[in-house]
Amino acid sequence: MAETIALQQDATPGQPCKLHPQSMCPAFGSLRILTRIEGSHPVMATDTGCLYGLTFVTHFYGARKSILAPTLGTAELMSGQVVEGTRAAIDVAAKEPGCRLIPVVSLCVAETAGMPEELLPQRIGEAEVVLVRVPAYAIHSHPEAKDVAMAALLRRLGDTTGPKEPRTVVLLGEVFPADPLAIDGVLRRMGVEQTITLPGRSIDDLHRAGRAGALAPLHPFYKETTQVFRSWNVPVVGGAPVGISGSYAWLKALGTLLELDPGLVQQVADEERERAQALVNARPLAGRVLVTGYEGTELAYARLLVEAGAEVPYVSTSIAPDPLVLPDELWLKARGTKEVIYRKSLEEDMSALDRYAPDLVLGTTPFSSAAKDRGIPGLYFTNQLASRPFFLSGGMAATLGLVRDTIDRGAKYREMQEFFAE
Ligand code: SF4
Repeated sequence: MAETIALQQDATPGQPCKLHPQSMCPAFGSLRILTRIEGSHPVMATDTGCLYGLTFVTHFYGARKSILAPTLGTAELMSGQVVEGTRAAIDVAAKEPGCRLIPVVSLCVAETAGMPEELLPQRIGEAEVVLVRVPAYAIHSHPEAKDVAMAALLRRLGDTTGPKEPRTVVLLGEVFPADPLAIDGVLRRMGVEQTITLPGRSIDDLHRAGRAGALAPLHPFYKETTQVFRSWNVPVVGGAPVGISGSYAWLKALGTLLELDPGLVQQVADEERERAQALVNARPLAGRVLVTGYEGTELAYARLLVEAGAEVPYVSTSIAPDPLVLPDELWLKARGTKEVIYRKSLEEDMSALDRYAPDLVLGTTPFSSAAKDRGIPGLYFTNQLASRPFFLSGGMAATLGLVRDTIDRGAKYREMQEFFAE
């Protein structure tokens, strides 16, 4: 359940075992976005151990609502009570004041025992009931579980029958709250009328998303969700507004896709590029950085650092390779990145730490701690890096500022290491 340095048997002698995800339960990704929706009362179909751990982490991240679950112990499983118990929990959820959505999050135990969708209600009272299947043996990382949840909600709730909103853009990605506001501000200057940010808090945004003029996935792991939009004939803009060249290309591509005024789009894209370039020119990055994590956004961060002047020889992520992430991989490899590892293990990251002697690592708690033990600065990817602005020139300034300051403190880390080694 928790992020661990797992003691594992090698599946192949000499190779790290990749049978078990070395991150928290992937289902957490889906729960995080499902609990945040106003009017949503999730039901979790799982056993008591999973329920305890997942509820704890979900409240740690500010769920502020109860998660209902049937009692599923050995007796209930043996007597085939999974569906009945889940239906009873749905009945209780439907009685919560203002309940409009009941996502049923079906996890390892319930999925293994069997959870036939046709035996669950589709709707109860005012609430839609949406089954979200995220067992860890099928969904290997928590970013990908967010994708599964979002796709399930949109398939049920997306409204494609109302009037089209050709100048509305759906921004897809769980990002720092200031980022969608900054992106919205820049897009409106180009002629976009509205943006919808998913995952978000509003059920109405899920309805409206089906009528939008374009989808812009800000993160590269929303594979199923992107397919849902494609099935609705909503065009998808590739890339993301990250860094100098990435932001410029993204703004231009979106302008072309929405048939916005080309002169206006060019002006806004030029301004963004100049602002970002000026930031890098004023204080370029120097140093070797290893970028590792399990958020699924690691390649985009690596790209930003390389553009700002850092050397990034190694990038690893928990997600699988995918066409959505391939452009970033090719871009990085053309600029000196030697290794891009998908479905990574901690052992691979540790091996990179031995081989590359970095000035900074961005990574999970165990990996950052291992780097600090060696007197190398380490930032925790999720809580320190992914919790600040990232997109367009404003986000670039915030992220690069933190990275630069941390590299500059390298001498302090070495002093501490020597002090404690004595
Ligand atoms: S749902 Fe699966 S991966 Fe998650 S805590 Fe339970 S058994 Fe572990």
